[in-house]
Amino acid sequence: AKKEKEDAKIEGSVQIAVGVKKEVDFATWYTSVLTKADMIDYYSVSGCYILKPWSYSIWEIIQDWFNSKIKEMGVQNAYFPMFVSQKVLEREKDHIEGFSPEVAWVTRAGSSDLEEPIAIRPTSETAMYPYYAKWIHSHRDLPLKLNQWNSVVRWEFKNPQPFLRTREFLWQEGHTAHLTKPEADAEVLEILDLYRRVYEELLAVPVIPGVKSEKEKFAGGLYTTTVEGFIPTSGRGIQAATSHCLGQNFSRPEMFNIFVEDPNDPTRQGKTYVWQNSWGLSTRTIGVMVMVHGDNQGLVLPPRVASVQVVIIPCGITVKTTDEGRKTINDKCEELASELKKAGVKAKADIRDGYTPGFKFNDWEQKGVPLRLEIGPADIAKQQTLSARRDTGVKSPLPLADITKSVPALLETIQEDMFKRAQDTYNSRLKEITNWDDVVPALDNKCVVVLPWCEEEACEDDIKERSGRSSEPQDERAPSAGAKSLCIPFDQSRWTPIEPGKTKCTACGKDAKRWTLFGRSY
Ligand code: AMP
Ligand code: ZN
Repeated sequence: AKKEKEDAKIEGSVQIAVGVKKEVDFATWYTSVLTKADMIDYYSVSGCYILKPWSYSIWEIIQDWFNSKIKEMGVQNAYFPMFVSQKVLEREKDHIEGFSPEVAWVTRAGSSDLEEPIAIRPTSETAMYPYYAKWIHSHRDLPLKLNQWNSVVRWEFKNPQPFLRTREFLWQEGHTAHLTKPEADAEVLEILDLYRRVYEELLAVPVIPGVKSEKEKFAGGLYTTTVEGFIPTSGRGIQAATSHCLGQNFSRPEMFNIFVEDPNDPTRQGKTYVWQNSWGLSTRTIGVMVMVHGDNQGLVLPPRVASVQVVIIPCGITVKTTDEGRKTINDKCEELASELKKAGVKAKADIRDGYTPGFKFNDWEQKGVPLRLEIGPADIAKQQTLSARRDTGVKSPLPLADITKSVPALLETIQEDMFKRAQDTYNSRLKEITNWDDVVPALDNKCVVVLPWCEEEACEDDIKERSGRSSEPQDERAPSAGAKSLCIPFDQSRWTPIEPGKTKCTACGKDAKRWTLFGRSY
């Protein structure tokens, strides 16, 4: 029976293996994992993809978690139309300058041209804020905290990649208005920490929170905070989510004119323009998770975002097994699944007829199910099941007697281990560098670098230019080879303290201000 099992396994793997090694051709590996795990399908419009249930369910788990957190903060969900008139879209100059190359326009209805083209939102600041002006009159109307779960369209010309960069993507965008700057500042960080937790606690992906440089901040905003992820296989950074303070840039009179009477002004003459934030987290989350955790067998799902956490597979059924024997094993699998479900575990018994256990093993491995339990006649006799972890491949028998305790505990261990491994990798690929000559070799070695930096835009342009000249040939499908600033990490204590006037910028030699994360990026 054992030999049969092995044969079946080999047969299965020939049929459905991922095919391309992660380390050899990362881009092909990625799309292959996504299609073989049944997460996406391609679509007839380039840069757009179908999210199938296996990936959409991850998005739903993120939505549920994030919704419950922002509702605790007093944020309410709403929905604004996807169309924006040209006049409104173009009101904030810096904002539209940042977005205009990517805006898609509707120019025709049926066979007649529209009098004025209508934009499809690339983000909804300009769609929403005229109504914020209409709704906010008194400080009693503040804070106004709205969020929407929607899709936006950015006609990106950079190489599209499923989840990471698509022309239409799903996200949430929160838009809030506050009476004071300190209140807005506090919320920016509170949201950023929720984004960190989505990545670290749900997706088991470590991120570095920080603030963007002036060059990289959100178009039209005051400052942008970000959580920056890292894709070890390509050595590239990725902007994982952003929480912006817009300041009063959108509320000022020439813009959307959103003000309240100053409650501290006894004459009631003074106007206070509201302080605004906007913050967004997209389906890019899913792509980052796939890239960080996936392996050459396919997807590896962290238990907390897996719609199936445990798959139970009947084993040891041979041609000699009687119908009754087969039924006993299948029933045991179903019984175990329902017992686990009652204990809050998302379990599923795969009792499909006509597939070998080996085929099923590979099928669920490709789909990244965190834990497999095997049940055969010998296991039933011993009142146990053989467990196999997707992340490590480690197998161990679990007694059925306390299975509703041991399985949730094992899932938690898997979740923690996946995060720890990813964090160790990120840390080991984050190089503290004070000598320019070490920068390009580190980048070529698939690392990101942290440098004492002067924070000047010209220096940032220069770093991008100088680091683009790689010593190695670059994958042409890979985006920009020059290093950008990813963020100025909030936690500066990780590195040697910067001495004002003494520590110099690694790139230009001027006085350094803070340690800044630079890297090639998506
Ligand atoms: P932004 O409003 O530009 O700060 O975007 C918010 C977040 O959405 C970013 O931090 C990215 O993680 C993500 N994002 C931006 N552009 C795309 C895209 N084309 N596809 C998927 N996610 C995106
Ligand atoms: Zn510099």
